[in-house]
Amino acid sequence: MRPVGKHPQGQRPRAHGEEVQGWLAGLGVQTQFITPGSPWENRYIESFNGKLRFELLNRVIFDTPLEAQVIIESWRRHYLTVRPHSTLRWRPPAHSQVFQLPPQIEYLFGRLSQEPRRFSEIYRLSSIWSGHVGGTRMAKASANEEKVAWTGNIAAVQPRIRLLRSFDQRHHSYQGYALRIDGACGGQAGEFLIAVGNSAHEKYQFCVGMQLSGLSVPVADPQRETAAFFKTSGIKISREAGAGSDIAPPIHGVPPNLDTYRSRGHRRLDARTYESSCLPCLWGCRMPVGMIIDQWDSSQKRYRFETFCYGPKSCPLYRAGAARRVPGRNGMSYTEEDRVGEEATSHRGPED
Ligand code: SF4
Repeated sequence: MRPVGKHPQGQRPRAHGEEVQGWLAGLGVQTQFITPGSPWENRYIESFNGKLRFELLNRVIFDTPLEAQVIIESWRRHYLTVRPHSTLRWRPPAHSQVFQLPPQIEYLFGRLSQEPRRFSEIYRLSSIWSGHVGGTRMAKASANEEKVAWTGNIAAVQPRIRLLRSFDQRHHSYQGYALRIDGACGGQAGEFLIAVGNSAHEKYQFCVGMQLSGLSVPVADPQRETAAFFKTSGIKISREAGAGSDIAPPIHGVPPNLDTYRSRGHRRLDARTYESSCLPCLWGCRMPVGMIIDQWDSSQKRYRFETFCYGPKSCPLYRAGAARRVPGRNGMSYTEEDRVGEEATSHRGPED
């Protein structure tokens, strides 16, 4: 405790004891406490609030209260169990009670505590650790990631969009595009899916008929990704596609930007119709879907794939298929009715 002018910094918890107050009174020094019922004036809470704002709230726009709940809870867990804290010698608060780290990670945290480094280094370590904590193969994958060379012709380009469901709530993540390539990958001939980013699509304008090659990493968890390969680099176009695009579905032109898909909205598309008719169509999409069964426990998840159509409502190939059910807590389930797709596309005319 350090007197500053007439008022010492009385916000520290240890300065709240009655004995200290008596001692200060004896010295004729007044104290300044935080306002009752204002925990945010506590410097620890202020620090936490600042980090929450800087690392999460300033970077994410929440579409629904549920989405905010799930994402903030996920960040809270990360904050408590993964994120290094400088005051704890670059360990997370829950480290000692909950997780036993492998010796090599302990060694790295020890090094950091003696020699604090840039934030990027700390986050590199935390991502290795989160791979360990989550029981995933992330740490192994980041250490041994080997790119596979592929080459071939584009048979289809579709958006790469993830869907997060929690009962009747939906949240989409627009990640890029999936190229269906007819060619050879890692020396094996066949058809395979390559994930590419939005910027790559802006640069190359991928479309059916292009001949190209590149390098990609096999995805670690095929449940969570439509494409079999991602982290694509070294793209080389060896032949551009022919002029013109199809007007009749399935439609083959250059897919629009992701904002267009977002603003158009989608309707449920029957999985068999997708396989038989919509695979080459730029308006079709097969999404990996994560389902949060219990919104108070975001670790309880299930995964599946769902197919959707962003195309014109008048498409003669369209079939909605059976209504989809989303499992919830205690054996409950939500059935997504046709009106969900109708509402999502109600701003479009029948030919749009
Ligand atoms: S139903 Fe949709 S995805 Fe399928 S061909 Fe028609 S517009 Fe394309």
